[in-house]
Amino acid sequence: MTNIFEDTRLRPELRAGLAKIGFKKATKVQSAVIPVMLDHQSVIVQAATGSGKTHAYLLPLLNDIDPADQCVQAIVTAPSRELADQLYQVARQLRDASGLAISIAHLAGGSDRDRQIAKFAQNKPQLIVATPGRLLDFADKKILVLDRVKNFVIDEADMTLDMGFLSDVDKVAARLPKDVVMSAFSATIPVKLANFLRKYMAKPQEIVIDNPAVIAPTIKNDLLDIGSKDRKKIVYQLLTMGQPYLALVFANTKQKVDELAAYLSEKGLRVAKIHGGITERERKRTLREVRNGQFQYLVASDLAARGIDIDGVSLVINYEIPKDLEFMIHRIGRTGRNGLPGHAVTLIREEEMDRVAGLEKMGVHFDFVEIKGGELTARSHYRRRDNRKSAKTRTVNAQTKGIVAKAKRKKKPGYKKKIKRAIQEDNRQQRKLEQRHEMRHQKRLRKRKREQGR
Ligand code: AMP
Repeated sequence: MTNIFEDTRLRPELRAGLAKIGFKKATKVQSAVIPVMLDHQSVIVQAATGSGKTHAYLLPLLNDIDPADQCVQAIVTAPSRELADQLYQVARQLRDASGLAISIAHLAGGSDRDRQIAKFAQNKPQLIVATPGRLLDFADKKILVLDRVKNFVIDEADMTLDMGFLSDVDKVAARLPKDVVMSAFSATIPVKLANFLRKYMAKPQEIVIDNPAVIAPTIKNDLLDIGSKDRKKIVYQLLTMGQPYLALVFANTKQKVDELAAYLSEKGLRVAKIHGGITERERKRTLREVRNGQFQYLVASDLAARGIDIDGVSLVINYEIPKDLEFMIHRIGRTGRNGLPGHAVTLIREEEMDRVAGLEKMGVHFDFVEIKGGELTARSHYRRRDNRKSAKTRTVNAQTKGIVAKAKRKKKPGYKKKIKRAIQEDNRQQRKLEQRHEMRHQKRLRKRKREQGR
């Protein structure tokens, strides 16, 4: 497949800009979306955060803007101020790297309206990144002239619907020129959203991109709801249930590693431990002993998840979900290496389900299990619908997963840097997800208050 980043329909400045920001190869969503948008056709894209969807629409939008024409030519909406701000920063980064003289504005509620109006008049933006409310406000007051808009993109469309902002988008969309190309990007496409989009798009191309695969297909990745039971006891039970060749138990802090290792030793297991508080020499010695088969159990912190290179880890137990979700992928990836079957069990309590949802959004699939008759058995999940969807994604992704798993096995130079970048990126994605959760939570609270007021 040719790389759409080399397509000559993209301005040379943008192609150079991509190289400058280090984007060499287009992601799946970019390869699918950019050619269609360059052809000025509407798209409805179902793609997760992290798929590279932002650049999938920003590139055609910036490509289509005539720098000499000082009018609003493209608009992107996002359902929150924070998301709009993030998009704005990404758009500016690409514009600056390309050296294109395109004026970009950020319109969002909550910030000083008068200042935004003054800035707007001064900068004469050609691309606008906005929240629906402020966009409608500016269009209503004729501060913003919509009659020359060529492209209109609704990002995070499902969330826009969830937040009740679709009616604002609708009012703006109704005033756009008839030949505007409208596109929507969303993690899911609920029926209500599909109906809305059909109103403005004649024959949109529908593009569905599976979540990127992050866990090797050879790993059975279990989720164990422990309810009010003691975590340590459950870990002991799991470790002694079968005969793991080598079990790795991850805890979030040094203290927890110490506590858990002490507990398991007291119970009679021969346990090794490593964490950041242990000297480098001691850590190396422990790892050597583990590799030599002197220990069957190793309790470790996340520091170890990245550095550990031990073959034959047959079981990974997550005593708890790490604060930084990206670590989960490294932890689980310690088992099922080199095509061997692997098994991971993550202990959770109900209040951690939000974090599980975050992981699922990152493409991590779990099987829900319980301990019955001294063994782990499948259990139906109270969020069964979500589960079924993940299972489907998993089948579709099997091949991609294999490729990812293979790539993960090969430790390349610059590995540490890559991990660092991945973690930074994960933090960014995590913030996005948290914003989504927070907004949904606020919406529920508002609804409850309204109901109580009646
Ligand atoms: P998004 O899904 O748009 O939030 O993008 C996820 C992350 O991938 C962002 O940090 C982008 O900067 C990065 N990214 C997007 N496209 C590419 C690409 N073609 N090559 C490398 N990184 C990319």
